[in-house]
Amino acid sequence: MAQIRGLAAHAAGAELLPYRYEPGALGAQEVEIAISHCGVCRSDLHLISNDWGISQYPFIPGHEIIGTVAAMGSAVRTLKEGQRVGLGWQSNSCGECEWCIRGMENLCAASEATCVHRNGGYAESVRADARFVIPIPEALNSERAAPLLCGGITVYSPLRAHGVNPSSRVGVVGIGGLGHLAIQFARAFGAQVTAFSTSAGKEEEARALGAHDFVNTCETKAMKEKTGTQDFILTTVNADQDWSAFMQTLRPTGTLCFVGVPPSPVTIHAFPLISGMRAITGSPIGSPFALREMLDVAARHRVQAQTEQFSMAKANEAIEKVKKSKVRYRAVLAN
Ligand code: NAP
Ligand code: ZN
Repeated sequence: MAQIRGLAAHAAGAELLPYRYEPGALGAQEVEIAISHCGVCRSDLHLISNDWGISQYPFIPGHEIIGTVAAMGSAVRTLKEGQRVGLGWQSNSCGECEWCIRGMENLCAASEATCVHRNGGYAESVRADARFVIPIPEALNSERAAPLLCGGITVYSPLRAHGVNPSSRVGVVGIGGLGHLAIQFARAFGAQVTAFSTSAGKEEEARALGAHDFVNTCETKAMKEKTGTQDFILTTVNADQDWSAFMQTLRPTGTLCFVGVPPSPVTIHAFPLISGMRAITGSPIGSPFALREMLDVAARHRVQAQTEQFSMAKANEAIEKVKKSKVRYRAVLAN
């Protein structure tokens, strides 16, 4: 069995170094993907620096993967060798619990992540359970679709789950990898979309992506003017914010939904929750079924990531640029 070569983090926050590992015998349900593209999600940076205390070194990051089926286990019937496929954050689940049976595999307690305690997509190939290896619609370009496998599904799922529709007023907080896809999906769902950003320079691009309105969140007056205007606010920022100010922008019965992971606990006064029956929630990635649906919607409504391509060998350069929030809007590594 050939070794798999990639780039691994060997210690918290360290530069990635060339690394190879022995994948062992291919399991009956497993698929090996020859990787063509892998997006650089902010979660990879959190893992590399062990922000969440779950990283085990060395490991190869990367979980926005597109490639072709290179090998399949004996029990895999649904895919063909050479077929173009994608793999996101989740690479396996128990398949038997209530959540797996309900088609909500992303809530399975035994869920396995593509690059946590295993090696991910900054590599020439990767393996996963066939259920999580998703065919890519022909209309999608691999470089621009790779970020849909994590960033895309993470914003698509809550918009769908919370019933966003043409009557909805949706706020997207943080216009980065996730946020720029959220604007496009919310627009495809027919909603009135407002971009909330700390970067005044992103206004024109946010509008070009489909936002009807743009709020510079650094301006207290601009935030105040939005009081009581939003039905659903999706926050994608990985930084602490004035969450009470966002609660104030919600209409009665509105929801503030976290997909980005701020470093500190979120503290909010109970009063706006009580008086307006407002809610706070969160959402993790999406199920394999949701991934298929999201890719189909992306293909038909032309939702795609705005990308900056780096060769796989330049992964460290890409990571540095993401760290400085200089990428518009997703770095994608290509083999
Ligand atoms: P990203 O491309 O770096 O975008 C994050 C955006 O947040 C930035 O573009 C910026 O937008 C805003 N931001 C960054 N630093 C800020 C600061 N100091 N103050 C205010 N705003 C700041 O990251 P991403 O890949 O979209 O990931 C975003 C977050 O989602 C990460 O925490 C990641 O781990 C998490 N995530 C969660 C899931 C899930 O399943 N829930 C899945 C994937 C990722 P503006 O310039 O517009 O302010
Ligand atoms: Zn991700």
